[in-house]
Amino acid sequence: MDDRTYTAEAEPGTTATIAGWVHEVRDLGGIAFVIVRDATGRIQVKVEKGEIDEELETLATEVTRESVVQVTGPVEEEERAPTGVEMTIDEFEVVAEAEPELPLDPSGKVDADLSTRLDNRTLDTRKPEVRAIFEIRSTVLEAVREEFRTLHCTEITTPKIVATGTEGGTELFPITYFGQEAFMNQSPQLFKQLASGGGFERVFEIGPIFRAEEHNTPRHLNEATSIDFEGAFCDAPDAMDVAESIVSAAYEAVAEQNEAELEQLGLAEEFAAPESDFPRLTYEEALERVNATGELDEQLVWGDDLSTEAERALGDAVGEHYFITNWPSEVKPFYIKDTDEDPQESTGFDLMHPEMELVSGGQREHRHDALVEGFEQQGLDPAQFEYYTKMFKYGMPPHAGFGLGGERLVMTMLDLDNIRETVLFPRDRQRLSP
Ligand code: ATP
Ligand code: MG
Repeated sequence: MDDRTYTAEAEPGTTATIAGWVHEVRDLGGIAFVIVRDATGRIQVKVEKGEIDEELETLATEVTRESVVQVTGPVEEEERAPTGVEMTIDEFEVVAEAEPELPLDPSGKVDADLSTRLDNRTLDTRKPEVRAIFEIRSTVLEAVREEFRTLHCTEITTPKIVATGTEGGTELFPITYFGQEAFMNQSPQLFKQLASGGGFERVFEIGPIFRAEEHNTPRHLNEATSIDFEGAFCDAPDAMDVAESIVSAAYEAVAEQNEAELEQLGLAEEFAAPESDFPRLTYEEALERVNATGELDEQLVWGDDLSTEAERALGDAVGEHYFITNWPSEVKPFYIKDTDEDPQESTGFDLMHPEMELVSGGQREHRHDALVEGFEQQGLDPAQFEYYTKMFKYGMPPHAGFGLGGERLVMTMLDLDNIRETVLFPRDRQRLSP
């Protein structure tokens, strides 16, 4: 629309055309107010009954909430209006009428449960505090891309339809591919490694991962957005440096660009980018810290993965973002390289928010024979992965990388209690549409 003015930019003393949704109609008898909302805010439209064309008056006072309207008229200062300005009506058009019964109230006066909200997401995101999450998510993705570029990475995209899985066989979604069994990819792991050895050296990808997680939890989705990095000639500490830069860049961008959205979410005062130099605990130190809290029923021993309770106890004890390094080889996937000193100990690391895991990464096994052996140890058939292992015969440099959960980054950043809040149309066990 050529001459449309956003409500936030409607200047007193001008005649403006605004377009948006009817937030509310307040009929006070001789006078009525139509509050119109668009992406930038709201404006009050005054209807002085008997003073304007009767047809316009009826249209404006009887319009249903959430209908789309276009209004043209003079804008004036008005102290008593919620935003300090008010419009009167020269023209009033109902562009798209809403049914009077709404499945969800975008004015927020009536609470709705998450399931109703997700079923009616288009109405739900008309609430500024809901849209704020997605504005921030958008900032995060932009900041992450920019930071990767600064770190000399090339953006790649890799197939989501694949012949084999990598993160353990149970979490795959099978599909039919021209009569042949295929799967939705759980991770770009193997492809990004192949690319990093393909002369690009440093690559990143932001894309969907698909995991047939068995359980509904507040921090698992069946389709998530993975922020992946892989760098040739990098070791695990190099990859940790990159992960730390990416997370910090996301926070800094949000602090700088999303003041209004943080305000909407009630976070403006407390929001702060994390301090740099996240503590790096070895797995062994992490076990000691957890056991020292006395929060767990049973003491953890070497080789245990950290349960949700253990992650919580450790997160409370550390109180900021931190890394856990040198995980036991047996709890990390086959493609993670062992340390040079000890075959029981891997170069695998996790980056943790005090509430949960955000990142897993490590240096990769780049020696062909050791890699093939790893497949066998994990119970995978190396023959099925020949497309991948073969390339390790032709000059695969040492390399390292990580995967960062995009939704978990936003969820922990905004202290949300359910990961579904960060996805427009989440996929979980119960939800396949919208
Ligand atoms: P968790 O143990 O917390 O289920 P994971 O170790 O299985 O995670 P990885 O395979 O290490 O997950 O994936 C790397 C990152 O991708 C995780 O740290 C997390 O941020 C994100 N991620 C993995 N699976 C999911 C999922 N189902 N939903 C949302 N994010 C996920
Ligand atoms: Mg992990």
